Amino acid sequence: MKIETTVKDVRKTVKEWRKEGLTVGLVPTMGYLHEGHQSLIKKAVEQCDKVVVSIFVNPMQFGPTEDLASYPRDLEKDSELCEKTGADLIFHPEPEEMYQEGFCSFVDMTGLTQALCGLSRPVHFRGVCTVVSKLFHIVQPDKAYFGEKDAQQLAVIKRMVKDLNMDIEIVGCPIIREKDGLAKSSRNTYLDEKERSAALILSKSIFLGKKMVEEGERNANVVKQAMTDLIQKEPMAEIDYVEIVDQNTMQSIEEIKGDILCAIAVGINHKARLIDNFMMTV
Ligand code: AMP
Repeated sequence: MKIETTVKDVRKTVKEWRKEGLTVGLVPTMGYLHEGHQSLIKKAVEQCDKVVVSIFVNPMQFGPTEDLASYPRDLEKDSELCEKTGADLIFHPEPEEMYQEGFCSFVDMTGLTQALCGLSRPVHFRGVCTVVSKLFHIVQPDKAYFGEKDAQQLAVIKRMVKDLNMDIEIVGCPIIREKDGLAKSSRNTYLDEKERSAALILSKSIFLGKKMVEEGERNANVVKQAMTDLIQKEPMAEIDYVEIVDQNTMQSIEEIKGDILCAIAVGINHKARLIDNFMMTV
């Protein structure tokens, strides 16, 4: 497995693969990889001849008061995980390689990005769309893999690919959880033991909401209220949102019907802002 840091070198490697008629999968990440990322890499290895994992903590998708500086990094451990999972290339650029002096072009989206995480993280999706389109142009993959853990991001990327006629198949992969239910996230490492157990309130409320819908509840407000009440029992939890939206438009719904996304964002003890969700077709 190779590790490359420049756009030029990645292009050269991918060009050689293309000459041999091989297909290419891309797994974009910010590193500090865990089994959630690994499930995406595994899927890519199953479906493509060659797999590129990008590891880049993208400054553009962090707001000024967010955790860009403290975001965990460990390239050595990440490389081991990528290698043993069967990736062929890690693309690990410095911010200066991705955003050269004078950089002033962005991919922006309205609508879908103005709900859920977009409300409290106003610059986030512009950063995500811009960096993902850059990665798509650099690697030119046949398929790219994204987790349902970031359900809004997945919807945004699918929309971007459709709107901008990018010839790339977007593959969504299910949420990987710890044994006790907590969705795996690089940000879980911000929490000490007590905060880690407080964070279980996210998955508990997701499982509660899911059960209510499975058992026939169709009033979104009733489900959201029950989930909110449960989260509020945890003193370390600070709710950003508890929402039920249409999976494609991210617009709030009152009646639970069609392809729905129930998504939450909750801060834990001012240390980590975590997200979780379930999607369902009703
Ligand atoms: P990140 O490094 O957090 O930007 O995540 C990179 C990719 O891995 C995104 O597509 C995430 O949705 C996905 N991912 C992160 N955590 C999980 C998880 N627990 N289960 C499935 N996919 C995940």
